[in-house]
Amino acid sequence: MSDLRDLYQQVILDHNRKPRNFRVLEGANRTAEGYNPLCGDKIRLYLSVEDGVIKDAAFQGKGCAISKASASMMTASVIGKPLDEAEALFHRIHAMLTGEATSTIDAAGDGLGKLAVFAGVREFPSRIKCATLAWHTLRSALSGAAEPVSTE
Ligand code: ZN
Repeated sequence: MSDLRDLYQQVILDHNRKPRNFRVLEGANRTAEGYNPLCGDKIRLYLSVEDGVIKDAAFQGKGCAISKASASMMTASVIGKPLDEAEALFHRIHAMLTGEATSTIDAAGDGLGKLAVFAGVREFPSRIKCATLAWHTLRSALSGAAEPVSTE
């Protein structure tokens, strides 16, 4: 368990320091805004979707290290994915972060790769919404919702 916690902290720090895909995406055809009022995290997500596949993804915003790292890893993991796989990934991450699985390892399951380190956030319940914000915003962008999404 301490290994997972160490890995979690390393990944959060790395992605917070050097967020991937932290830019405005020119030519994006799906965007969404997400806001986590508990922490003040705000992101704007940009997707370029062609032929049912997420060709590119990027984000802007400001917030805590967890929200930024989560958005960084979310964008990196959905680029190249068909929309239905991205949606499925949302459900798996959401279940991992908010579900009632008996251990974080069980909850993380396999196939999530580095995203599984976010299971570490379960030890800090007040920060779970920081980690889920990017994923809720992804879902909002995929569904074409016009209203900003809030974790509340
Ligand atoms: Zn936060």
